[in-house]
Amino acid sequence: MSKTGKCLLILWGLFFLAILASADQTYAIKAGRLIDGQSNQVRQNVIIVVQGNKITALGENAAIPKEAVIIDLSDKTVLPGFIDAHTHIMVDGVDDYGADLYKNSTPFRTIRAVASVRQALWNGFTALRDVESEGAMYADVDVKKAINMGLIPGPRLWVSTRGLNTSGRYMPNDYSWELDLPKGVQMVSGIDEGLKAVREQVAYGADWIKIYVDWPFFIDKDGGISGLTNFTPEELAAMVNEAHRLERKVAAHAISRNGIKAALEAGVDSIEHGSGFDDSLIDQAKTQGVYWCPTLLVFEHSFEQRASPLLKQLLEIEYKALNKAYKKELKIALGTDAGSFPWSINQAKEFELLVKKAGFSPMDAIKAGTSVAAELLGQSAEIGHIAPGMLADIVAVPGDPLQDISVLQKVMFVMKDGSVFRHDK
Ligand SMILES: [Zn+2]
Repeated sequence: MSKTGKCLLILWGLFFLAILASADQTYAIKAGRLIDGQSNQVRQNVIIVVQGNKITALGENAAIPKEAVIIDLSDKTVLPGFIDAHTHIMVDGVDDYGADLYKNSTPFRTIRAVASVRQALWNGFTALRDVESEGAMYADVDVKKAINMGLIPGPRLWVSTRGLNTSGRYMPNDYSWELDLPKGVQMVSGIDEGLKAVREQVAYGADWIKIYVDWPFFIDKDGGISGLTNFTPEELAAMVNEAHRLERKVAAHAISRNGIKAALEAGVDSIEHGSGFDDSLIDQAKTQGVYWCPTLLVFEHSFEQRASPLLKQLLEIEYKALNKAYKKELKIALGTDAGSFPWSINQAKEFELLVKKAGFSPMDAIKAGTSVAAELLGQSAEIGHIAPGMLADIVAVPGDPLQDISVLQKVMFVMKDGSVFRHDK
């Protein structure tokens, strides 16, 4: 073997030893202030012991194992890793959707996704529910696999692969009819095609099924939102039932009142965007145990870009509806639609919008992006709050987010699965 080859071998050996060491590392985190993501109590001067990838002890007087590396966050607020329940890692806020699909290869888009998931983790998001790959087929499954293998850093991912809509009803839709170009979702017509698509997506690694229930929307004279539903009730119910039979949950894109109604009637598990929620739909969603994932940041970003009066109206309607749903205690999970806007924009801005525009208490906004989002994912036993036995996904921010929610955009420490990914000193 050449000298260079030997050097490389030694370097790789050291690299893997470092990974092994970090997996077995014991840490004692000194938290000045602890918001655990579940209780309303804020605890002061708590020690969190992490062994391997789990939290093993927590308390003011928790014993610090002698092999522990001490992480001093005694002047910081420590929280569970954030969860964004609505993202698209395979896009990056491109202005021209068609150009992204037809000029960029899936390998390029996957490399870009590697940078995006790294950015999300850097900002404190230790888990994402990615709700369809926007024409990049099953590449989201590959990114998840690479993260789980430790090849690249990134949040825990729950992915939806291709998404579903009816034939002809998704972007890009402004190209010549002579070109038979692939679209940003899998298009199906009829119950058989819907069932086949759900089965295929599950077979290739979909954790969730994403269905576009309505498209586009209109604002009515009474200030409500109506829209066109894409599927017949029979098609929709067949796909939802098949997903459930295969033990997958269903996320429904639904903005209008009739879209939300159709999605609820079909038995979906979460309503995405949901701007048209009214009293009776909020009550129905609550009775059925359906979550609302409102994605405020993408609408705010689009409004900033285009100053569209329609978007402004939509946002005003959504903020009112969201405040109502919050008061009625509908389960609301934080989601941003990151990817539909550039990943360089910090997703944690959504916490601030929930507080300042939708009237959430800071504590409830934090829960929406931690324990409630974990419940939506069906992962409450492992992530979403800080307690002994939970996976060690932990972040820290300067200051007190209960006084100033915007400090959640200033994460300075990130631990995922017991490994320190970021620690600004
Ligand atoms: Zn989306």
